[in-house]
Amino acid sequence: MNSEPKRKGHTPLLTDILRDEKDARAYLEGKRWPNGLVCAFGDCGSTEITRFEVKASVRKNGRHVPARSLYKCNACKRQFSVTKGTIFEDSKIPLRTWLIVAQRMCVSKKSVSALQISREFGVTYESAWFMCHRIRWAMTDKNPTKLSGTIEADETYIGGKPRGHRKHRAAKMNMSERITEAWAKKTPVFGIIERGGRVRARVMPKVSQKEIERTMFHNIDRAASRLMTDEHAIYKKIGDMLPHDVIRHNSEYVRGEVNTQNIESFWAVLKRGLVGTYHHVDAGYLAQYVAEYEFRHNTRHITDAERFSALMGQIEGRVDWYVGKQASSSEPD
Ligand SMILES: [Zn+2]
Repeated sequence: MNSEPKRKGHTPLLTDILRDEKDARAYLEGKRWPNGLVCAFGDCGSTEITRFEVKASVRKNGRHVPARSLYKCNACKRQFSVTKGTIFEDSKIPLRTWLIVAQRMCVSKKSVSALQISREFGVTYESAWFMCHRIRWAMTDKNPTKLSGTIEADETYIGGKPRGHRKHRAAKMNMSERITEAWAKKTPVFGIIERGGRVRARVMPKVSQKEIERTMFHNIDRAASRLMTDEHAIYKKIGDMLPHDVIRHNSEYVRGEVNTQNIESFWAVLKRGLVGTYHHVDAGYLAQYVAEYEFRHNTRHITDAERFSALMGQIEGRVDWYVGKQASSSEPD
């Protein structure tokens, strides 16, 4: 299965490398600014930085703040810490724990649940959940380039299994009403995949011709691509945008090159992961889980260490630090 991440080479574990917070800060500094310190304020970017040490202290709220290095920008005169402007900013969780959890999420073949993180690292479930979501945010592709070549597109529906037969009986719902109710709880996800390449999956409020055309417009290099889909009505007019082949699932699953097996195996990995790792995924957070599986798939040919480096390259640039619910992950108009 080409969707499974590869495990190659030896990955030095941060649990062994980082002994304390001082080590963790030095490690992050090296990863963030490999060519010398840079002002962490996005509107400045000066390289005239002075490092200074701050003694350990106890804040008014009783929080113990250990001794640490801070930086002062000689251009804009502002001070900042190594976590300023990253997913680790403003957190009471030690940076060492953050880094170890981030690496853990990158080297696991499957996703890691907040419950596992909470047990393994001795943090509360809320803290673990918060960390996982910020790390998932960093996994989203910040500069997505357009997909090209032979591309498969397909849609799937996640969640909303029909449940509670007793309740349905009491409400005297017939089968068609039960099915309608179950489908109303399902969340559509639309995906496009390059044969042997990258995948892009988007949670949508509903799958419509307009939504999928917009997603394809933003994500596919139409001049250099050939599209394959099933016979769903939403793809009927897509042939106007780019060359389009249709596989008729009623009568055939594969017709030579024409098939949608790659996107279908991505859906299988995603669904198996969601069922196995998370007993319940809130539809509002589904976009982040989907982004995690997208990241895993798109980095499947590199080593665990390289995948972690790729993640560390995406920890910056967050404007809104609150990882809130997203109704969808589709492109803006
Ligand atoms: Zn500055």
